[in-house]
Amino acid sequence: MSLHEAARRRSIAVISHPDAGKSTLTEALALHTRAIATAGAVHGKGDRAGVVSDWMEMEQKRGISITSAALQLAYGDVIINLLDTPGHADFSEDTYRVLTAVDAAVMLLDAAKGLEPQTLKLFEVCRRRGVPVITLVNKWDRPGLEALELCDELSERIDLQPTPLTWPVGEAGRLLGLVDVASGDVHTYERAPGGAGLAREERLAGAEAGKRFGADYDDALDGVGLLDAVDQESFLAGRTTPLLFGAALSNIGVRQLLDAIVDLAPAPSARPDVRRTEVGADAPTRPVDSPFSGFVFKMQAGMDPRHRDHVAFVRVCSGRFERGMTVTHERSGRPFATKYALQVFGRERETVEEAFPGDVVGLVNASALAVGDSLYAPDGPAVRFPPMPAFAPEHFALARVKDPGQSKKFRKGIAQLQQEGVVQILISEARGDATPILAAVGPLQFEVATYRMDHEFSAPMVLEHLDLSVARTVAEDDAPTLTAALGTEIARRDDGTLLALFRDVWRLRSLQREYSLDLRPLVAGGE
Ligand code: GDP
Repeated sequence: MSLHEAARRRSIAVISHPDAGKSTLTEALALHTRAIATAGAVHGKGDRAGVVSDWMEMEQKRGISITSAALQLAYGDVIINLLDTPGHADFSEDTYRVLTAVDAAVMLLDAAKGLEPQTLKLFEVCRRRGVPVITLVNKWDRPGLEALELCDELSERIDLQPTPLTWPVGEAGRLLGLVDVASGDVHTYERAPGGAGLAREERLAGAEAGKRFGADYDDALDGVGLLDAVDQESFLAGRTTPLLFGAALSNIGVRQLLDAIVDLAPAPSARPDVRRTEVGADAPTRPVDSPFSGFVFKMQAGMDPRHRDHVAFVRVCSGRFERGMTVTHERSGRPFATKYALQVFGRERETVEEAFPGDVVGLVNASALAVGDSLYAPDGPAVRFPPMPAFAPEHFALARVKDPGQSKKFRKGIAQLQQEGVVQILISEARGDATPILAAVGPLQFEVATYRMDHEFSAPMVLEHLDLSVARTVAEDDAPTLTAALGTEIARRDDGTLLALFRDVWRLRSLQREYSLDLRPLVAGGE
């Protein structure tokens, strides 16, 4: 049963540099799969009635999306779990965590901008984590780069060979149609104004397309001829990326993307089991058809202001999840009752009765759980999935409670933020644990932490930004040398790792040269 259900699932995330069209594409995907009636409902742009928490109030004020949702779309026989990722680069740590919970990613490029800084970082994280990537060049309805130029960027700058599934007829800004590379047929579109509803599509056989588009069609075929054909094996191995073109705003190329997800993206499969690795088992993985197991890849607090609840988002890795089942929390060995299990659709929540590998369930009242924790059915073997990778922070601030009378609440709040992965907490021996160092990938993470300490834990805190920007792991023996040096801090992560923090890479390099230190980078995307 779970084998069959796993085989028909695809769990993916859409990733991109901000503004490439991620939200627009998400809505277009939902429209094509008829999961919702009108585009816009996914992100609740119009009617915000229902569950609106202080969280969302903050999102609204800042005009950013902090909450990631999981959207389940039915496309033919296949169920696509679309894991949303935050749009703002400051929350890329959240995006990286979501990438541990998917089986493939869809990378969106803006036709006019090509590879942008966040695009490069995300490609790198996918490579490190072994997440295969399908690439969609978006906004082809507007002037932009040449298709072959974009392909060169992919192969030269990130060593990923693009293998086209579709190819545009007409340059960016003059989209006449999309060649279906496998057949040579061309799809033409009559755009739906404003993206409301599906674009009307017509399919022309190659010969007919040649007559209608002449040199533009020939140019498209010439472009395609310069590249290799799609190959699933090298795609799964991270050497090639199936490439598509389109315009999410007009729903052009979106159906082809859905087909590519179904045909090429892998179904959920066995995941590494650290417990079995430790005992030296032959096959240290958790097969999808073994009893229920999953891991927490994201925590969300305060989604419902009436309850101040903590929702743990769990990626199901094996077996069948059934609402109400009691599972074992691997880290503590304690039972965890899943009386409240949700599927979170944008701002709407719906109770989920059952789930299968690749699905995401939101477990309520989950304050005992932490990001990276594993859960499993007590009637099956224990499992521990690999720990959530720790990402390289670039921003550091010293935290103090405003009113010393609230120290207890402050500690509790800090511990909770750490558990949820809102910020990383580092403790410096010199400064003590009453003034922890908050470490973040993006500075907005500090804002979220400050907001929550104030509103949720009633322990307002004061942050003092530290003039530091680089973290390295450091050998215990080298720590005393650095403690005395200017422009550095030594602090410990809760997993015991000792970190040296430097003002900048120049300071780091000069100290490293001076004392020949054993420093190791914490790579974005985890080690
Ligand atoms: P996100 O930040 O990646 O989620 O990007 P959005 O989906 O919010 O899109 C950013 C902007 O690009 C918005 O103004 C969209 O309307 C616009 N946009 C998205 N897709 C397309 C497209 O295919 N064509 C054009 N012309 N604009 C688009």
